[in-house]
Amino acid sequence: MYQHDKVKTSPDFPIPDTMRAWILGDPDQLSLGTKPVPVPKRAEVLVRIDAVAICATDLEIIHHGPPAMIQGGLPYNKNFTPGHEYMGTVVALGPGVDEYKIGERVTVEIHAGCGQCKRCREGMYTSCHNYGLNYGDLDKGHRANGFTTDGGFAEYAVNNINTLVRVSDAMSDEEATLVVTAGTAMYGLTELGGLIAGESVVVTGPGPIGLLGVAVAKALGAQPVILTGTRDNRLQIGKELGADYVINVNKESDVVGKVRELNGGKGVDYVVECSGAPNAINEAARMVNRGGRICLAAFPGKPAEVDIAHLVRNNIYVFGIRGEGKSATHRAEAFMAQKRFDATKVHTHTFALEDLPEALRYARERVEDAIKVVVKTRGHAALNSIAAE
Ligand SMILES: [Zn+2]
Ligand SMILES: [Zn+2]
Repeated sequence: MYQHDKVKTSPDFPIPDTMRAWILGDPDQLSLGTKPVPVPKRAEVLVRIDAVAICATDLEIIHHGPPAMIQGGLPYNKNFTPGHEYMGTVVALGPGVDEYKIGERVTVEIHAGCGQCKRCREGMYTSCHNYGLNYGDLDKGHRANGFTTDGGFAEYAVNNINTLVRVSDAMSDEEATLVVTAGTAMYGLTELGGLIAGESVVVTGPGPIGLLGVAVAKALGAQPVILTGTRDNRLQIGKELGADYVINVNKESDVVGKVRELNGGKGVDYVVECSGAPNAINEAARMVNRGGRICLAAFPGKPAEVDIAHLVRNNIYVFGIRGEGKSATHRAEAFMAQKRFDATKVHTHTFALEDLPEALRYARERVEDAIKVVVKTRGHAALNSIAAE
């Protein structure tokens, strides 16, 4: 059985020596294999994974390989397990860990920064010094599970305690997997700075981050919150999550004009850009008022042309955000625990771990209007079904 020096376990949560894990060999070569159950070191715990959500980034990583290994200079690891939006139960404690107890339910952030570089010290651990410095360096304590280190399409994973977020028992496993997505939206709004009740927000692009961006902005008191997109079913979910107005950009010839009209003839204070459309930044720049702020949470595949003169003349601030820094996940979880919004509205499908390829297909091809597809690692043998509404 699983026994390691200075690692605490409990008979209530027996741990095998090996586990099932999906392994990415070459790009697009995903297979279900067996790996040793990993061992937590200092400041780390072992999490038994109970559920994991599929993210668009997982699809990219599976198709191209992890970016840090493709462009970032990290050695290409053909024994890599992707998956980063997971939750589960703490089942073993590394040496000295007393911040968590065995049996606690947790969800996870992706990035454990090195904790030593300038950005980590500022709480910007998702921007831990880039490739070649501490990023991806396990000896420096850096982990980005599902990116540089093994992730959640498996039965167990090791997590730094700083990446854990406790979840209340009232929150379902599926909902808990969405904390990091809501946390990413929360980080974007945090970085925009000074969002307070009564300020106006446009969210462009109703993907999971955009939809939960609407929910978080509304929970923070923004008024009005306007969501733009191309799919009516997603715009409808945006309304249910708190959008005061939605605009289908395929049916509205002057989206910028419509935004201004809906905000009393004025530009809005903030745009959270989640569509990745090539012209989105220029449209966002015309939606905000002078001195307004744009958060870029998505990007086009190619460099885009930007009307810089308009940005300068109008004192418009542009922020890029990377992941879920500054403990934003904890604030997102607090909103969810207080039922300020129902994140499960973006969860559409659930599959069992062994059916990951089919789950990925649902997410990639948006089968049956899939938005967030969740894989349950245990306890649910014959899922393969649409989530109960
Ligand atoms: Zn993700
Ligand atoms: Zn760092």
